[in-house]
Amino acid sequence: MARYTGPVCRLCRRVGEKLMLKGERCATAKCAMERKATRPGMRPPRPRKMSDYGVRLREKQKARYTYGVLERQFYRLFMMAEKAPGRTGENLKQLLERRLDNVVYRLGFAESRNHARQLVRHGHFMVNGRKVDIPSYLVKPGDLVAWREKGVRSEPYKVAMERTEAKVIPSWLSLDRTDLSGRVLTLPITEEIGAQFDEKMIVEYYSR
Ligand code: SF4
Repeated sequence: MARYTGPVCRLCRRVGEKLMLKGERCATAKCAMERKATRPGMRPPRPRKMSDYGVRLREKQKARYTYGVLERQFYRLFMMAEKAPGRTGENLKQLLERRLDNVVYRLGFAESRNHARQLVRHGHFMVNGRKVDIPSYLVKPGDLVAWREKGVRSEPYKVAMERTEAKVIPSWLSLDRTDLSGRVLTLPITEEIGAQFDEKMIVEYYSR
């Protein structure tokens, strides 16, 4: 599956918000938004009021950039959310949270979702005892996410051992720190997600 390979900080500058895409660096003075919070381009754009369409588009882009999902894949998730019972916006948030790369990040095995995606692609994880190297794989309640033999011998595993000591794990996941395995207890709890985007605006964007 294709992915965005350009400069990550550019995405934050494009939406005018810190999306925390680079892990620890985002909390330091090296963050591009701390140094140059203008939109990318040759010249700074003239300030103007954003249209309703622009506001909704920006919310959708923020969600896409945060989870590292391309347009077509995001639209597919939206369609799944719309067909599922309940509120479309909340369903969409749950589907994004259930992605395997996000779960690896939430469990503290990686410092950012981008890093988690890379670890998954490199085949470091298994779900319910079977290797899964697809970052968009959707976990479900009861699933066990664990490191494979190859992953346990890797440097990221040792770093993850230290990182997880201070990591706050969402209540819909449980972490066994002895072997760094995580269990999905329930569907993601939307109040806990702390998303930087307004899902209702995303629903309005696709309903136009
Ligand atoms: Fe965004 Fe992090 Fe880059 Fe800052 S360092 S601009 S928060 S990705």
